[in-house]
Amino acid sequence: GGIAGLSAAWRLRKRGFTDFVLLEMNAQPGGNARWGENEITAYPWAAHYVPVPGPKAEYVRELFEDLGVLKNGQWEERYLAYAPQERLFLYGRWQEGIEPAVGLTPKDRDQFQRIENLFSEFRKSGSFTVPVELGLSSKFQDLDRISFSDWLRQQGFDSRLLHWYINYACRDDYGALASDTSAWAGIHYFSSRESEEKGPLTWPEGNGWITRRLLERVGENIRTTQMVHRITQTRRGASLFAGEMEFQAEFVIFAAPTFLAPYLLENFPRLRDFVYSPWLTANLTLDRYPESRGAEPSWDTVFLDSPALGYVDAMHQSLRTHVDRTVWTFYWALAEGAPAQNRQVLLERDWAYWKEAILHDLERVHSDIRQCVSRIDIMRMGHAMIRPAVGAIFSEERRRLSRLSGRILFSNSDLSGISIFEEAQYHGVEAAQKVLRQLHG
Ligand SMILES: Cc1cc2nc3c(=O)[nH]c(=O)nc-3n(C[C@H](O)[C@H](O)[C@H](O)COP(=O)(O)OP(=O)(O)OC[C@H]3O[C@@H](n4cnc5c(N)ncnc54)[C@H](O)[C@@H]3O)c2cc1C
Repeated sequence: GGIAGLSAAWRLRKRGFTDFVLLEMNAQPGGNARWGENEITAYPWAAHYVPVPGPKAEYVRELFEDLGVLKNGQWEERYLAYAPQERLFLYGRWQEGIEPAVGLTPKDRDQFQRIENLFSEFRKSGSFTVPVELGLSSKFQDLDRISFSDWLRQQGFDSRLLHWYINYACRDDYGALASDTSAWAGIHYFSSRESEEKGPLTWPEGNGWITRRLLERVGENIRTTQMVHRITQTRRGASLFAGEMEFQAEFVIFAAPTFLAPYLLENFPRLRDFVYSPWLTANLTLDRYPESRGAEPSWDTVFLDSPALGYVDAMHQSLRTHVDRTVWTFYWALAEGAPAQNRQVLLERDWAYWKEAILHDLERVHSDIRQCVSRIDIMRMGHAMIRPAVGAIFSEERRRLSRLSGRILFSNSDLSGISIFEEAQYHGVEAAQKVLRQLHG
């Protein structure tokens, strides 16, 4: 019931095939594109935006046409993030945008320019695409054999601000430090999209808005609170066991995170190349906006040198002229250290601990934050997203699973090695099309 599963369902129904069920373990579908709502606004629990899709993301463009986000080649204005979009707090003041522009030495400036030139060359190569699968070329396989931080060192990049920015990007998109990220994936982050594209596309509830629209289209096929705990192959397909229920299926689209396969499928080999980053998100209900040292509220706010990733304001896309109450979604990838240990830390520490850690981070900039917040809800996600560790992108194991045909097909975004909306949607639609081809030839 995440974006991959919902997208498979969308494709099946769109092609007129309705004889299927989508089993979701949670009460609310959406996975990482789930949302919440209170008396002030809807807000995201994890994914909160989609960059304006490029020409290769055909399925995403098709979906956005269906949903009225793309009309006659134009992006619907009210879904494009309004200005001011991003702000960074550094050296006691604010700047617009997240790439540091204040306090740079000539060496920093030179390195930011030089790396942008390199990214631009990679972009022109056409190999760093979204979806990943459509551009992947062995020409750049060596980049998957070293970490992004080693690549930076090899290229002579040693600016502290550049390293902070690169690490911020890796933590934000991959939940990992640059030293734990494949250089190929790091370069992909910066080289897969045209720099002058507008956007991104966003909604108060983040990608929960897309989930909602998909649920309107495929909701009648969904069974929630149905955790699949066993799948066995049969002569004509598979048996699925969820709670007390047993389902007989000709085909199974396995849209849950792929690392679960050895736990659910009989005789499925152990997986080596699927590493996941743990995350924590929190939704803070604010009865008023805190002191911001003169800066205008933005959609996305980041603090230099924070262990967390900042927060997104759910009321930013509101058309109301006066906004006093809001919800902030606070993002924190536990990137430093081993994922398994950090999952343990996530589990052991309680709400009071995380609440204090979050407020402590925020009050460095918003000194009156404690007087503004009336409620904090926290979500702990142990295997939140696939981590594109060194070797993950060209991993044979991963690519073999994504190319499987047969009765059991995989479709989670983790098959791409990077976790973004477009990859989840691509694998969901592809899996549905494989099923339809086998059914109808
Ligand atoms: C904190 C965070 C922020 C993010 N922000 C963005 C963003 O802004 N933009 C973006 O593009 N991407 C973002 N992502 C990436 C996000 O993971 C993808 O965009 C996408 O939502 C992944 O969808 P999926 O279907 O592949 O996986 P998931 O969302 O993980 O879906 C898997 C589904 O399977 C269900 N499931 C698991 N096990 C079982 C079982 N045994 N039985 C039944 N159901 C089961 C789960 O409950 C879940 O609903 C973010 C991720 C995180 C963690």
